[in-house]
Amino acid sequence: MKVFVAETAGFCKGVKDALEVTLEAVQKRQEGEKICTFGPLIHNRQVLAMLEEKGVSEQNHLEECAGKKVIIRAHGIPPHERQRLHRIDATLLDATCKRVAKVHAVIKKHARRGFHTVIVGDADHAEVIGLLGYAEGRGHVINRPEQVDELPGSWEKVLLVAQTTQNEEVFEEIRTRFLQRYPHALVKNTICDSTQQRQAEVRQMCRQVAAMVVVGGYHSGNTLRLADVARECGVPTYHIETEAELNRQDMARYASVGVSAGASTPNWIIRNVVQYLESIQPESSNLRYRLKRTLERLAYANAYVAGGAALLSAAAQALMDFPASFANAVMAACYAFAMHSLNIYLDRNAIELNDPGRAAFYHRWRPVFTGISVMALFLAFGLAMKSGFLAFLVMGLLILFGLIYAVPVILPARWQNLSALKIKDIPTSKTFSVPIAWAAVTVIAPHLSSLSTAFASMLYTFWVIFLIVLVRTALLDLLAVRGDRLVGRETLVVLVGERRTAWFLTGVLTLLALSAVIGPLAGFATGFAYVLLPVTAAYGYQLHRCFASRLREDPLCETLIESVLIGFGGLALLWIAIR
Ligand code: SF4
Repeated sequence: MKVFVAETAGFCKGVKDALEVTLEAVQKRQEGEKICTFGPLIHNRQVLAMLEEKGVSEQNHLEECAGKKVIIRAHGIPPHERQRLHRIDATLLDATCKRVAKVHAVIKKHARRGFHTVIVGDADHAEVIGLLGYAEGRGHVINRPEQVDELPGSWEKVLLVAQTTQNEEVFEEIRTRFLQRYPHALVKNTICDSTQQRQAEVRQMCRQVAAMVVVGGYHSGNTLRLADVARECGVPTYHIETEAELNRQDMARYASVGVSAGASTPNWIIRNVVQYLESIQPESSNLRYRLKRTLERLAYANAYVAGGAALLSAAAQALMDFPASFANAVMAACYAFAMHSLNIYLDRNAIELNDPGRAAFYHRWRPVFTGISVMALFLAFGLAMKSGFLAFLVMGLLILFGLIYAVPVILPARWQNLSALKIKDIPTSKTFSVPIAWAAVTVIAPHLSSLSTAFASMLYTFWVIFLIVLVRTALLDLLAVRGDRLVGRETLVVLVGERRTAWFLTGVLTLLALSAVIGPLAGFATGFAYVLLPVTAAYGYQLHRCFASRLREDPLCETLIESVLIGFGGLALLWIAIR
């Protein structure tokens, strides 16, 4: 089945920011501090359960917030509730969306001048309740054009606004009727851009597809309206919370389906729906689908990791002008595969949130992965031993480091705070430890005997391999940022944010490009180092793509990122063959 995914599907800025404010509060929580949200932060049960697990409770009554740190969700609250929260000693963390706050300000300003405020929205929606609070008792809510005629005709000063997630067409109909009744009325279309774009894209999509699937909570107003928009376009529309609600036979009738989602629908749920829909068409008639599944399976099986490490080993040899060694490549592949596979089982939560399909794959193949990983470790050990005692020792340390990465290190009782420390919990440990380990296993471990004669060349190669793997790891972290944040895995992206990571990576890529030019000129590397220039450009493009794509967790994105490393290694093989 052909599936079109809306660019605008998923978290809007307000919801994304509110989730980030909450996760940051969890990260910085003081001992004994209680954190709660006033009302559900997001209309998604999986995320709410995860927040609950992290000690963020949902409170629906003001009294229950007494003495706690209270997160005001994106919808905002009326001013009297804010004052009451202050009175009962709650510490407020205001995650009211800036656009909602702007509507508050408009209503407040006009209420002070004696205006009556009419809000187009759902009277019992939290955002509308918040907006009404600023109308100084002269607020009214309507949601159908005919309700305009029920409003008192005697009003002179009157303002019309909308709930930020209102249906654009309904608002336009109401506005026309409203201006006929109140020609001097002030009308402000306060529907959020994000909502407008989402609805416009659904209308556009409906022209190309046979059916629409709208993903999001049944209580999510903006998702309900999105489904209404699709239905109004005359397209069969399915409003679902998860893919389990879709009927395979039913959906198989459509040659193409559009998928959009409400503002509080996480990407991993959208991805599951997309994957499910894509799997419906008979695989034999869909080459693109089969290709995508194959690439996905290769990523799940850690084939890119193993292949990438082996090819990096070849690249290291090409840079240092060392004789090609198949054994070194196998050693690097075995180490990388085993470490990645074993750590997946020690750190399942983030994978489940980022990519449930991948988590299910690992669960099904667990004995196979564990068995192959153990054999790979023995093989890596054996090959290191062949290179000498020092190589064996370095490999032992690298394996030990990899194995204890995600398990608690038990320290003496006097270091109580640190006694259950995991290396993976050290901020940015993953982002930096993977490149160090890969550079060590491809450059140091196999060539220790040459350290004294080729020190500068080995140091240079270690440096560039470290930079390449650092960019690759940070890009992969960018793909997985949502799940990592929720489980509290402190990658560089989680710690400093997506924008700063992008700047950091731009800096690293600049260093890589400079190293590509300086290495051969200074005699630290062969001319193969110039190949690092296109590698830098390819990673730069991937970085740009990471920010442009809304559905970042797609395994195809992962394949594209890994393909840079594989291409670099492939060129190294060519270089070695020609030389
Ligand atoms: S829909 Fe718009 S106004 Fe509402 S929370 Fe999202 S970004 Fe803010």
